[in-house]
Amino acid sequence: MKKPANSRKNTIKPPPHSHPCMFFHVILTTECNLQCRYCFGETMDDFDEDFGEFELDYNLPRKLDYNVPILAEFCSKDPDCVVTFYGGEPLLNIPALEEVMDTVKPKHFMMQTNGLLLDRLPSKYVNRFHTLLVSIDGEEALTDHYRGKGTFRKVVDNLKLITRNGFQGELIARVTVMEQTDLYKQVTWLLNNSEFKFSSVHWQLNAGFWGNDHKRRDFKRWSTENYIPSVDRLTQFWVDHMETQGEVLKLYPLLGIANSMLMDKQPSLMRCGGGWINYAIQTDGYIIPCPTMWGMKKYYLGNIGDSDPKTLGKVFVNDTPCTQCSDLGMCGGRCLYANITKRWTDEQYAEVCATVKGLITSVERRLPRIRQLLSQGKIALSDFEYLKYNGCEIIP
Ligand code: SF4
Ligand code: SF4
Repeated sequence: MKKPANSRKNTIKPPPHSHPCMFFHVILTTECNLQCRYCFGETMDDFDEDFGEFELDYNLPRKLDYNVPILAEFCSKDPDCVVTFYGGEPLLNIPALEEVMDTVKPKHFMMQTNGLLLDRLPSKYVNRFHTLLVSIDGEEALTDHYRGKGTFRKVVDNLKLITRNGFQGELIARVTVMEQTDLYKQVTWLLNNSEFKFSSVHWQLNAGFWGNDHKRRDFKRWSTENYIPSVDRLTQFWVDHMETQGEVLKLYPLLGIANSMLMDKQPSLMRCGGGWINYAIQTDGYIIPCPTMWGMKKYYLGNIGDSDPKTLGKVFVNDTPCTQCSDLGMCGGRCLYANITKRWTDEQYAEVCATVKGLITSVERRLPRIRQLLSQGKIALSDFEYLKYNGCEIIP
C-alpha cells in the first residue's frame, strides 16, 4: 500500500555543509527526441496521473523563455558555479545553448545529453565542455532495446566525431539499468570494446515505480539475483584493475562511495546535490531543487531575476525511512525527489535500499585491499578525487 502522501513532513533547514561553488542544471527545453521510459517527459505524464497533493505548473514554456543576460547576472554572483545543460534533450535548443555559452561565465559548462544531435553543435562549443554525460546503456542491442533502434550507432558515431574534432573533456557514459541489464557485462563492455571505449561510467537504476510500473516489473528478483551480485563482481573487477593496472577507473558509484570511505570526515548529504548544492533552473527562470521537480510550485526557491546563488534555500527531507537508516551517512538519502513524492510502499523502499546497501557493502569489503594498494603506492589517494555533483548521483 502506498503511504499517505502527507504522512511525512519536508523541512527546510540550514546547510550543515558549505561548498565553494554551486551547480545549476539549466533546462533548455522540455522536449525530447527519444521516447525512453526513463525520460523527463514521462515523469511529467506521471504527474498528470495522480500528483494531486502538489500544485503543479503545467504551463511552463517548452523552451528557455527568459533573457539570458539575467542568467549571466545570476551566475556572476558565484563565478565558480557550474552550469549543466539539461532537458528534455538540451540539443533540441541549440540557439539557446549557444547564447548561454556566449553570455554566461560559469567556471565550467557541462551537459547531460542523449548524444543524438551532438554532430549539430559546432566544435567551438563542444570543445568548451568540461564534462559531457551521454546516455548509453551498454552494447548496441541493449541500448537500442531501451532507447530505440539506431540510437546506439548514431550516438557512437557522434562521440567518435567530437573526439576527432578535439573534444578533450570528460565523457561519462550514463547508463540506465533495469531488468534486461547485466551490469557487470555492460559496464565492462563500455570500458573495453572495439566501438568506443569510455573511461568514465555512471549508472542509474530505473526504479521510478510510477503508477503500475512496479507490478509490471520483476525488480525484486532481478535486483537480488542479478543486480546486487553484479555490482559486487564489478567492484572486484574495479579493485583487481587497480592492482594490475595501477588505475582507479571512474566507475562513479564505486568511486564516490570509496572516496567517502577514504576521505570524508562528515556524513554525506544527498549525493546528487539536489536541494542543497545542485539546483535546476526552469525554462521560466524559477529555481527548483532538482530538474525532476519541474513545476512543483511548493519547492520554487526563487527566480534567477531576484536570487543569489549563494543564499538559496536548502531543501532536505526528514521523517522518511532514511532518517532511521544506519546507512544514511554513506547513502545520503539517495533521491530527494523520491523522498518528497513518496510514491513507494515500504516494500518498494526496501527493495531499492537493498541495492544501495549492497553497493556500500561491496566497496566496504574491498576497503582493506584498497588501503593496502594505497600503502604499496600502486594507486594514490588523489586517484579517488573527482568533481562532485557533476551529474553523477553516486547512489544509483
Ligand atoms: S539506504 Fe535507503 S533508507 Fe537508507 S539512506 Fe539510503 S535511501 Fe534512505
Ligand atoms: S537523484 Fe533524485 S533528487 Fe537527485 S537529481 Fe536525481 S531525481 Fe533529483
